[in-house]
Amino acid sequence: MHTKAQWTQLFRSDYYRRFSEGEPWDAIQEACGIFGVYAPRRIDTFSLAQFGMFALQHRGQEACGLSVARDGKIHTFKREGLVLDAFKSITHIDQFQGNAAIGHTRYTTSGDSRTVNFQPLYAQDDRGEPLLSIVQNGNLVNDQALRTALEREGIGFLATSDAEVILRLMQKQLSKGIEQAVRRTTEAIRGAYSVLALTPDSLLAFRDPNGIRPLCMGELGADTRVFSSETCGLDAVGATYTRDLEPGELVIVDAQGLRSIRYADRPRHRICSFEYIYFARPDSRIENRDVYELRVRAGEELFEQSPVAADVVVGVPDSGVPSAIGYAKASGIPFRPILVKNRYMSRSFIVPTQEMRERVVDLKLNPIPSQVSGKRMVVLDDSIVRGTTSKRLVKMLREAGAEEIHLRSASPPIVAPCFLGIDTPDKKALISARMDKGELATYLGVDSLDFLPMESLVEMLGSPNHCFGCFTERYPVSPDEKKNRLAHADL
Ligand code: SF4
Repeated sequence: MHTKAQWTQLFRSDYYRRFSEGEPWDAIQEACGIFGVYAPRRIDTFSLAQFGMFALQHRGQEACGLSVARDGKIHTFKREGLVLDAFKSITHIDQFQGNAAIGHTRYTTSGDSRTVNFQPLYAQDDRGEPLLSIVQNGNLVNDQALRTALEREGIGFLATSDAEVILRLMQKQLSKGIEQAVRRTTEAIRGAYSVLALTPDSLLAFRDPNGIRPLCMGELGADTRVFSSETCGLDAVGATYTRDLEPGELVIVDAQGLRSIRYADRPRHRICSFEYIYFARPDSRIENRDVYELRVRAGEELFEQSPVAADVVVGVPDSGVPSAIGYAKASGIPFRPILVKNRYMSRSFIVPTQEMRERVVDLKLNPIPSQVSGKRMVVLDDSIVRGTTSKRLVKMLREAGAEEIHLRSASPPIVAPCFLGIDTPDKKALISARMDKGELATYLGVDSLDFLPMESLVEMLGSPNHCFGCFTERYPVSPDEKKNRLAHADL
């Protein structure tokens, strides 16, 4: 029997963190979600931010926070855990009713998971008056070099994340005006970033010159502007989608209205293709493309590419389901939702033994045995990362009596890690980087295996102007810059 102190120690340990944040789940972890709202008058920022962030919960469940501009001040609240739990603990709701707000749902992709890294991050002047608050989705590749350079100038850091590098760079240039502060900051930073920044009297939104992470905007009524990582955040507050921010665009909203500034010299469209496959919610549109339709099409393509005779098509919930529907539609084989996901699965399990760890994984998904027994099954999953979940799923289906299992991945093989805002395993842990299709089929114990071809993914997306780095190992931002080379910028 563990003492309370032992449980606490275990809960805080790296072992628990690794376990609880993905290794046994075998999933690529989401990036972060950002949400913002601005009106030239007092609005219900508390509820709007809460609803918007709740809609973006799938992009990060580790922590969340919001900053609200009210009467020339900025009030910030952040907390570990889910949006609804965190908002419940806000006692002074009135303090968070202002005219503008930014919010963040966090999954750690830079820095560590300590409280200091929770967002929004904010800067104050010498008298403790708030200057600026920011939320970010993405990852910089040259943050360490910039941090070192700033520290040499005597600028202190409180957190370890790359978001604080953006904050300190902006703070340093703030005396030149907020627009110049963003311009100078974006000249220095390299990588993937979608950022919302709040000052006491304005809200700013900007996206990196490759547009790697998504960010869209919308309108709510006559004068309220809304920004969100995905359109589902706009839907959650009843806002109408206007457009996505362009790569290398800065949008400033204040009492004068909305201004758009193209700050990048050579912007390119290189949005993360994995947003469509896995990260984004199926009810979102990313860069005006319907995520659900794309996933259905991936299933149709997979049938064209590798048809098989079977009794039933099954999707691994949640993101494999639309592809299974597409496969079923193209093949005429009935789709059946016979894999049941426990929707209350959370990170609150504390499991000290390997045996029990394996049981916890099985709690996440369970097949309906009567629908599996004696069946030839086509199983659609969004991707295969380490292969551990697929292997366990195949074992589970065999034990439930499946006669044949044909596994189809709705993405090409993942052969390389991401350093642009998504937490992927190291290359050596990616099973498709180590095994070809035949070897992997044998390892997983399936009767056949296939992946969505790269050409089909490009064709479905309508252009090669996306990031396909985890499938091709070619990235829109050079990995060389990761070696902490200082950007060409006058800091
Ligand atoms: S490397 Fe992969 S996950 Fe990362 S941004 Fe590119 S496509 Fe997305």
